[in-house]
Amino acid sequence: MKEKIKELLKELFADGASLYASSGRINLIGEHTDYNGGFVFPGAIDKCIKAKIKENGTDKVRVYSIDIDDYAEFGLNEEDAPEQQWARYIFGVCRETIKRGGTVKGFDAIFAGDIPLGAGLSSSAAMESCFAFALNDMFNDNKIEKYELARIGQSTEHNYCGVNCGIMDQFASVHGKKDCLMRLDCRSGEFEYFPFKADGYKLVLVDSVVKHELVDSPYNKRRESCERVAKTLGIETLRDAEMDDLNRVKEQISEEDYMRAEYVIGEKERVLAVCAALEKGDFETVGQKMYETHAGMSKLYEVSCEELDYLNDIAKECGVTGSRIMGGGFGGCTINLVKEELYDKFIATAKEKFAAKYGHEPKVYDVVISDGARRIS
Ligand code: ADP
Ligand code: MG
Repeated sequence: MKEKIKELLKELFADGASLYASSGRINLIGEHTDYNGGFVFPGAIDKCIKAKIKENGTDKVRVYSIDIDDYAEFGLNEEDAPEQQWARYIFGVCRETIKRGGTVKGFDAIFAGDIPLGAGLSSSAAMESCFAFALNDMFNDNKIEKYELARIGQSTEHNYCGVNCGIMDQFASVHGKKDCLMRLDCRSGEFEYFPFKADGYKLVLVDSVVKHELVDSPYNKRRESCERVAKTLGIETLRDAEMDDLNRVKEQISEEDYMRAEYVIGEKERVLAVCAALEKGDFETVGQKMYETHAGMSKLYEVSCEELDYLNDIAKECGVTGSRIMGGGFGGCTINLVKEELYDKFIATAKEKFAAKYGHEPKVYDVVISDGARRIS
């Protein structure tokens, strides 16, 4: 194998290889809204996957991941799926491109990244977007629409990796733009850029490094609650509900379903409020809405956990502008909007207090809103 890799590297760093990149993502606000037909508000970050790629004149793909020091080789037909899970992301992107009538020829690639794997920053979507963008550029004259590139990544997760995800991660990775967040309407697929030039602030993720395994599929239960309330209201999804509507049917639904729907309806309003605030450069309101989302996820939707609530409390005590759970809940990160002058104190306090209570320090990732999928050279 070593010989193969050496060979590959020699060829790749000779003339003709192109360098592509795509990014991980954060979601500032809009959680558990996607399956309710609502809005999410992600942005691409300055942590990315970079891949050096070159057509190799065969019908095989040969690819090496520097980060996990592994090599894979596979053909482009459905039965050629590689064994390694990481390589299936790339195989899937090839297959989904072909299924859509696109061209994919054999290529050699070597890639690496600085997105922490499995931390909720979507390293998998970055990988898919990077390769989908590259295949579109190398073999398809960039004829495949950007949104379709995101769908190629999403279908890869569904059909080749066993992850039944929404479109947000791949969408953000493909469409990301420096200093801009994107409000994506999960019902229509329409989106709009909003400026996010947070001068004087930092965005920082504090990773609890815990993931609670839950027995009774809480995600499905949340979905079912939302669907029941929508059905009672005679609408397709809670996207079309207001608090007045919910209060009209209060007696017909369980207390628990009421709380779930109250969170979802509130979250839709919070996303819109954050967009309006950003247009005015009003980061205080943005931060306040983030805290409201956290409270909603914790008390109404009940998808938080002790560790994340503790990190949120620490942020509040330190005077952090905004803080909330990022992602589905039950573990993972909080996303924090912090004034630069408070940053050092907040991080030191969070590490110290969290470690004292839970026996390990949280991990800390600074992020800057940056470009998504692109060709570098
Ligand atoms: P997330 O997308 O939140 O980071 P996932 O579990 O969806 O977490 O994706 C992580 C998987 O993506 C890894 O287990 C690996 O298979 C693949 N992956 C991501 N980045 C790399 C990389 N740099 N090299 C090889 N595989 C990677
Ligand atoms: Mg992923």
